[in-house]
Amino acid sequence: MSERFDIAVIGGGPAGAATAIRAARSGARVVVVEKGTHGRDKVCGDGLTPRAVAALNELEIPLDDAHHIDGLRMIAGKQVRQLAWPSGGRFPNHGAVWPRRRLDAALIDAATAAGADVRFETTGDPIIDHNGRVTGIRTPQGPIAADLVVAATGAPGAVARALGAERDPNEPFGLAIRAYVESPRHADRHLEACLTIRDEHGTWVPGYGWMFPCGDGTVNIGVGALSTMKGFKKLNLNHLLESYRALVVDTWKIGPNLERPRAWRLPMSTVKRHGPGWVAIGDAAGLVNPMNGEGIDYGLESGMLAADLFLADPASAPQSYDEQIGERFDAFLRTGRRFAFLVGHPGLMRTGLRFAVGTNRVADITLRVMGNLVDAETPGAAGRTLRVADRVLAAADPLLRRTRAKP
Ligand SMILES: Cc1cc2nc3c(=O)[nH]c(=O)nc-3n(C[C@H](O)[C@H](O)[C@H](O)COP(=O)(O)OP(=O)(O)OC[C@H]3O[C@@H](n4cnc5c(N)ncnc54)[C@H](O)[C@@H]3O)c2cc1C
Repeated sequence: MSERFDIAVIGGGPAGAATAIRAARSGARVVVVEKGTHGRDKVCGDGLTPRAVAALNELEIPLDDAHHIDGLRMIAGKQVRQLAWPSGGRFPNHGAVWPRRRLDAALIDAATAAGADVRFETTGDPIIDHNGRVTGIRTPQGPIAADLVVAATGAPGAVARALGAERDPNEPFGLAIRAYVESPRHADRHLEACLTIRDEHGTWVPGYGWMFPCGDGTVNIGVGALSTMKGFKKLNLNHLLESYRALVVDTWKIGPNLERPRAWRLPMSTVKRHGPGWVAIGDAAGLVNPMNGEGIDYGLESGMLAADLFLADPASAPQSYDEQIGERFDAFLRTGRRFAFLVGHPGLMRTGLRFAVGTNRVADITLRVMGNLVDAETPGAAGRTLRVADRVLAAADPLLRRTRAKP
């Protein structure tokens, strides 16, 4: 192979950019291949939790271009709870909305500024030797050898198939759709999530509808649904978005969609996220929070971790990455996936929701748990709730899976 780098990253989204920024700033030779153009748009809600803001801070990405968000408004039927992001913990007390075209450009530009060789409109495939070791990537311009190949390709596709890193077919996943609309409330400082959404036939859908104000005259409107519901395969996301739009059209005074609504997958599991010479990060590793569909933070965190472990010891990086990402996220994501099976039962979902937003105090705990702003070590009510939820959902899981509505 004529070219050689320390790290070859396939995919220039938040996850791939995070690896590139971190590794290149420490002097590693990094190439990123991205099949899209510079400034490509990713279908997304554009919402950043305080956890994601913390990750951007760690990468030293200024957030001046993002719209500052103070908290979350949760709506369940007629109940409305407006909550501030928690303060005093290990995350900042604000979130943001940052349209992906701009967020992703800021991240990939930071990677270039750090010294990474970023190649747009270039596809990459892993090169796998006869021992099953990934030794580099194949691009239309020729092969590139690398000590570590990082699959940052988003929701599993051809690269995941080549690596044997597909979604676990027994676990849930999500689908979501979004559009942009104009609204006089574009500078609202709360994310809004409506937890009680129904399809055009009136069927309850596990998921939520969102209004995420961008602060630039527009609002990101969207809906997401979990695969654990009955009739998921027949769910028409365009119709679901229209039903949700009818719910918010008056309160937000929204105009027509500024572009055709676009949908994409939310992967929530993977059968494998590392192997000899490679790791998968972000969506490619199934790192999406099943409780709220958030994936940007997990992409950034896993991307940074992959770089750090490579810098510490290239040889052991894939194995250590798998272990450390597991310690950080596996328990939470497992609880989240069990939660997805729970809310796939409409009766349980309705009862649960009434409780989850029943009082300000409980809603505050819901916010912290769903936003992954606590972990098993967190003291206080939210930490206890997560631990109890983990145990209860673990006990109920076999039954919930057995009795789940078959799609
Ligand atoms: C409708 C919707 C709403 C969402 N809302 C939110 C939200 O509000 N907040 C949040 O945190 N998360 C949200 N998510 C999830 C979030 O969008 C993803 O988790 C996030 O984009 C993952 O980042 P990533 O870098 O892993 O992958 P991506 O952002 O998907 O980037 C992967 C990149 O790899 C490139 N690529 C793929 N294959 C190749 C190849 N072979 N060669 C070269 N390049 C390749 C792609 O072009 C792409 O640019 C939402 C998802 C959807 C679908």
